[in-house]
Amino acid sequence: MNTAEIDTFAARLARFTDKGLTLDDAEALADKLVTRDRDNDSRRLCLECAHLQGVGRWGCGNWKQAAICTRPTDAGLAHVLVVMPQHCPGFKEHMR
Ligand code: SF4
Repeated sequence: MNTAEIDTFAARLARFTDKGLTLDDAEALADKLVTRDRDNDSRRLCLECAHLQGVGRWGCGNWKQAAICTRPTDAGLAHVLVVMPQHCPGFKEHMR
């Protein structure tokens, strides 16, 4: 990894563990994102989104635009979705 990739990796590690991932899971995911970035893959994770709410048990703060449900009480996000690269219409980059 170059310097910029290492900085990004470290920032993601902090973000992902702050959001409740274990260090091992956060490292594995951040490692996959290095490849994603090098491939210019435009898909993003909920973990990279400013609208992700919660720690460990997550919800979407932009559920309407994201079109994931019709009521805020249904805006919970499963683990599998939070770590899945996707094109979400409600995505907003979380500032590192
Ligand atoms: S807006 Fe989309 S990417 Fe962002 S937390 Fe909600 S579902 Fe995830």
